[in-house]
Amino acid sequence: MLDGIIQLTGKTGYIVRGNSLMVVYFLNDQDMVMVDSGEFRDPELIEFFDSQNLRVAAVINTHIHVDHVANNKAFIEHWGTMIYASARDLKTMRSKELIPLERGYHSPHYIEAVLREADYEITPILEGTEYVDIQGARFEIVDLPGHTYGHLGIITPDGVCCLGDAILSKFLVKNSRMPYFANVELSVESMKKIKTLEYPYYALAHRKIVRKEDMDALVDANIQLEYDIMDAVYNAIEGTEHMDVMGRKVLENMQFYRILNGKYAEPFEFTVKSRIYWLEKLGRVKILENIVYKSAV
Ligand SMILES: [Zn+2]
Repeated sequence: MLDGIIQLTGKTGYIVRGNSLMVVYFLNDQDMVMVDSGEFRDPELIEFFDSQNLRVAAVINTHIHVDHVANNKAFIEHWGTMIYASARDLKTMRSKELIPLERGYHSPHYIEAVLREADYEITPILEGTEYVDIQGARFEIVDLPGHTYGHLGIITPDGVCCLGDAILSKFLVKNSRMPYFANVELSVESMKKIKTLEYPYYALAHRKIVRKEDMDALVDANIQLEYDIMDAVYNAIEGTEHMDVMGRKVLENMQFYRILNGKYAEPFEFTVKSRIYWLEKLGRVKILENIVYKSAV
């Protein structure tokens, strides 16, 4: 059931559908800007907005993952919605060569599916962009790379900072075995950057609004989780290992591989590798020709 829009500040509210929380900002009585468009095709959401005489004039995407852009196309068809997303994510999502390198998908079937995630008109937000103006309303933009290379933080004109998947909720910190990051090192840098931001509210895409006073502890818990996972990956390396088997090995150690049922494992095996590259950056392992060596301590 659709519970409607929950008001947060003067012009900003949010709507929860499935596992997602989408922030909406009211430009006027009718037009809204939405941050991300949902995790599944959602005709009921369009009907609801229509019934309230509301219209999604624009969507700004925190990143291009299927569970954040699922209604972009439907909104374009229904209202002629403008879609904004990071140029860096678009570059990945529109390239058969970059999808395996930056998303971890190798099967042609999945590469085709990823290509479809961004095969419509999108206004690119270039790296380093500080704001996007929509009908006179200014949305601040902060680069928060890591979960994807182009992940963005988007701040409504009244100070609600939408963090997409850059920070996990307390629940997810406790329950995620292997959070997905394209690049963990960048993610942790982005988390540290988030600690320097000063906004009254933070919206996490997976169902949580967090107040500033609770944010530091949550970001610290996110960073600690990454160090704990890095240690688990490090401990799984016995002597020398081939990079290509490490993903599966770590997921099996965590009793996670079986749950992923093989076919969903590709991106998770990829994100395990990202942890190994981070270990290399920290000098804890060496990688030579795709073989991982524990560095002599
Ligand atoms: Zn995501």
